[in-house]
Amino acid sequence: MTEVLYKKLVTTIPDLCRVCYTCVRECPAKAIRIENGQAEVMHERCIGCGNCVQVCSQHAKVYLNEEKEVLALLKSELPVAALVAPSFPAEFADFENLRELIGMIRTLGFNYVCEVAFGADLVAQDFRTVISDENHPAVISSDCPAVVYYVRHYHPNLVPSLARVASPMVAMTRVVRKKYGPNLRTVFIGPCISKKAESNEVDCVLTFQELRHLFKSQGIKAGQAMPSDFDSPLAGRGMIFPVKRGMLQTLNIPEDLFDGNILVAEGKVNFPAAIAEFENGAISSQHLELLCCEGCLMGPGMTPDGKRYARRAMIGNYVREKMLERDTEAWKRNIDEFSAIDLTQTFEPSDRRLDLPSPSKIRKVLASIGKQNPQDHLNCGACGYDSCENHAIAIAQGLAESDMCLPYTIEKMHRSIQELNLSNEQLAKVQQALKHSEKLAHMGQLSAGIAHELNNPLGVVIMYANILLDECQDEQIRQDLGLIVTQADRCKRIVGNLLNFARKNQVRLEETDLLKLAYDSLASVIIPDRILTHVESRLREPLCWIDHEQMTQVLTNLIKNAVEAMPASGALTLKIESEGEYIVISVKDTGTGIAPENMDKVFTPFFTTKEIGKGTGLGLATTYGIIKMHKGKIEVESNDNPSKGPTGTCFNILLPKINQS
Ligand code: SF4
Ligand code: SF4
Repeated sequence: MTEVLYKKLVTTIPDLCRVCYTCVRECPAKAIRIENGQAEVMHERCIGCGNCVQVCSQHAKVYLNEEKEVLALLKSELPVAALVAPSFPAEFADFENLRELIGMIRTLGFNYVCEVAFGADLVAQDFRTVISDENHPAVISSDCPAVVYYVRHYHPNLVPSLARVASPMVAMTRVVRKKYGPNLRTVFIGPCISKKAESNEVDCVLTFQELRHLFKSQGIKAGQAMPSDFDSPLAGRGMIFPVKRGMLQTLNIPEDLFDGNILVAEGKVNFPAAIAEFENGAISSQHLELLCCEGCLMGPGMTPDGKRYARRAMIGNYVREKMLERDTEAWKRNIDEFSAIDLTQTFEPSDRRLDLPSPSKIRKVLASIGKQNPQDHLNCGACGYDSCENHAIAIAQGLAESDMCLPYTIEKMHRSIQELNLSNEQLAKVQQALKHSEKLAHMGQLSAGIAHELNNPLGVVIMYANILLDECQDEQIRQDLGLIVTQADRCKRIVGNLLNFARKNQVRLEETDLLKLAYDSLASVIIPDRILTHVESRLREPLCWIDHEQMTQVLTNLIKNAVEAMPASGALTLKIESEGEYIVISVKDTGTGIAPENMDKVFTPFFTTKEIGKGTGLGLATTYGIIKMHKGKIEVESNDNPSKGPTGTCFNILLPKINQS
């Protein structure tokens, strides 16, 4: 085979590819690799069958276009012959008179327009010699270049079984060169993409689609060109070659006689299956007549969407008509004349098989796409491979990606959506918390300003009230002064709490036993018998560096609130534990809970749900400020709706462990 090595027969237009894997599924050579979300053709593996071009609904696969090269050839000084494939009547059904088509081809500038069907006549003769010889080892027909490439790449051991006969295209090239001179250039025109890489003996290959495009670009229209016949030598039954069992029909061999030793297989599924069975010995005594397409009349270079049986009928009609018209004796003379041409063709193996991964590697890949057990192998084919195992092999060979597995991808997407929902929720919570702490920070600034301004005059009031109290002898006035001192002290405490909230007080860290702190805080609050208390620590050593006094105030505030939230009865639990980088102290009650609309106000200064006079609304604000001064966090969870579960509130104080060093 005088091949044109590594021609990039088919390429992908990345922008059009929607990565549907249809081409992967349809490629008999598994020559399409999915990489970075693109279905890329591996040219060294491609056999040019054109299946991917035909099946891609997005027109993302295009084949090599040689129109420019042909135009350049036609402009040269050299004579050029067009070698028209015998499937042309099926393609140009829109022509009332096919002689017009031949005239149009001549108008493009071709010196000769010849029928490849005559080459098919010669090839069929050689094939007859092989199959008539009972002692001849079984052969695989070599007229379809895609089949030949497939054997050479993927069944190199079978290369010696390929019939050593040139294809009709190459045979016809040799014929016309003999007839019209060795300088003659040839352009094959047909339905096939693979032909473009078949042989260096042919100068260019155009598909019928390219020919139509050339007519258009060169302004050549049907009806304007002089109708014409093919140049000699004219074909005989070789005209029937492109239909199913074309070779046998060309040889006029009744199928029933030969059914026993010739097996015909056509199409991307059947021909590889026949080759595999031939190789494993199941049908090794039978000659194989193989075509990659469902007959050349369905080739990828034909105009898409043609109807198979209508095309077949057109070829049948054309052949019948021509067989009546043509001079059989002249045909025989031509066959005799050109039978002397050497139609031998040799083929070399060109192994493109990939190493099969080990069973353990395959299992590992399968596990990575969620196929742990046999029942996980859905073998749905959505990935483009016919089984999960074949997909795993392709992944291991670098041909495929895990994301091609639809069930795996769907599951992964579900997981991502869940995670996304979760992180959205978390984000919303964080945003809410941020807004809240910004609000509290502003209030803290305001409180600090007010407290600072009040602190000094208040100090003066208290000092002078105390001096006057010391000096005054009048009992009535002393009582009034005492009231001033008491209320001014109260104001002083409020100011102190405001400063705590505004984090303007000093924190004096000292090593504190949290368990003892919890018990002491509980002891400092009057807890009615109806409330059960429980303290537990999950720390081995519940020691912590904190401002003992301030944290006592924090716990006391929370315990008091908890007790007030359980007017009937309930349970109060103080728990100390470690959680990541925090020591967590939680104060949990089974009380009435906090209404959802109040949840983001609980730390706001002067916010209270208690009756007027029963609370300043500074308890939780102070608590918040103290925890912040410890660089910690305070979180609250609460449920006030019994239909949603047990009611109650839990405050979690998170103190960073890093403070502890
Ligand atoms: S058939 Fe292939 S090239 Fe076409 S869109 Fe699908 S994956 Fe892309
Ligand atoms: S032309 Fe055929 S062998 Fe090449 S990539 Fe397309 S389907 Fe595969």
